[in-house]
Amino acid sequence: MAGIYFHIPFCKRACAYCDFFKEIGTRRLAPLVAAMHRELENRRDYLGGEAVRTRYFGGGTPSLCPPETIRGALRRTEELFDCTAVEETTLEANPDDLDEAYLSALREAGVDRLSIGIQSFDDDCLRLMNRRHTAAQAEEAVRAARRCGFANITVDLIFGVPGFGGDSLRRSLDRTLALDVQHVSAYHLTVEPDTAFGRRAARGDFRPVDEEVSEREFLAVHDALCEAGYEHYEVSNYARPGFRARHNASYWHGEKYLGIGPGAHSYDGSGRCWNVASVEEYIGGAPAQGERLTDRDRRNEYVMTRLRTAEGIDLGEFGKRFGPDRLGRLLRAAESPIQASRAVVDGQRLKIPPERFLVSDQVIETLFEA
Ligand code: SF4
Repeated sequence: MAGIYFHIPFCKRACAYCDFFKEIGTRRLAPLVAAMHRELENRRDYLGGEAVRTRYFGGGTPSLCPPETIRGALRRTEELFDCTAVEETTLEANPDDLDEAYLSALREAGVDRLSIGIQSFDDDCLRLMNRRHTAAQAEEAVRAARRCGFANITVDLIFGVPGFGGDSLRRSLDRTLALDVQHVSAYHLTVEPDTAFGRRAARGDFRPVDEEVSEREFLAVHDALCEAGYEHYEVSNYARPGFRARHNASYWHGEKYLGIGPGAHSYDGSGRCWNVASVEEYIGGAPAQGERLTDRDRRNEYVMTRLRTAEGIDLGEFGKRFGPDRLGRLLRAAESPIQASRAVVDGQRLKIPPERFLVSDQVIETLFEA
């Protein structure tokens, strides 16, 4: 089974923490959509005839697209690929784009899962991050989505924002829980150089939180969501039973995916390719770049993606895929994180306990094969 990803690179304004590839304003939406349709057509064989299980509109801000654009992309996908077994079609949205007319049209077009970028329920924190919605708008967006028939809603939250831990984070978590959504993605703020926060940090007027605060806030999020019945199944993701994100899980499990649009990445089981991260060059037909994966790449990727999940690495499967020598080396490399309680062997599985996911990158790095 495979996935198709559409990258919509437009935003109304830049959030203070965001270094994703994006362009402000939608004036080039029409030529971009035409180019995306051309790409879909040209790459109709990329998935090798595999049935499409998930479709995902990410960005950028896909909710800046009129519903006809979304509908057109989905219909074309159905003409070109086997979409008879699609299980999930997700669209990322900003709360202030979501009114009932728009939401109903999305439902009719075939979107069945909404990913709403809420980030915080503290209006001061939202202003600091240069988000364009308020907490009240976010709550109303979730309610409106439910009224319009969305039964699978995920919201994004950001923690580790200086000055907005403690009570502010607690209130955001309470308001998230009160909305009773099916899925929550919670990310620690990272301060990237090419962002408003990064520039402020370079001038010395913005200080990222320290490790102790990070850990405290991570555990506050983890505990609140787990106590409310969400399963912490991946570093940043929490789900009600039966509502894990299927599209993202296909990346973690090495399934094929086709990425359409500027900056989008694709994987066909043996190699990866990526489109130029420029709207202009993409519309102009710039070819994708690609690379074949070596055995070591595949092994490292397997370790990285599996250890980011609650299931971890199935050691039996690892041994079959990569051989007994590599399994022995993996177990030897895991001794030190296991001694430090940052990893465990549980039956046949090597895992990072979810309450230690905050340091997963450091653990994974020690397990990479050079
Ligand atoms: S966080 Fe989302 S809405 Fe904000 S600038 Fe980045 S892509 Fe656009």
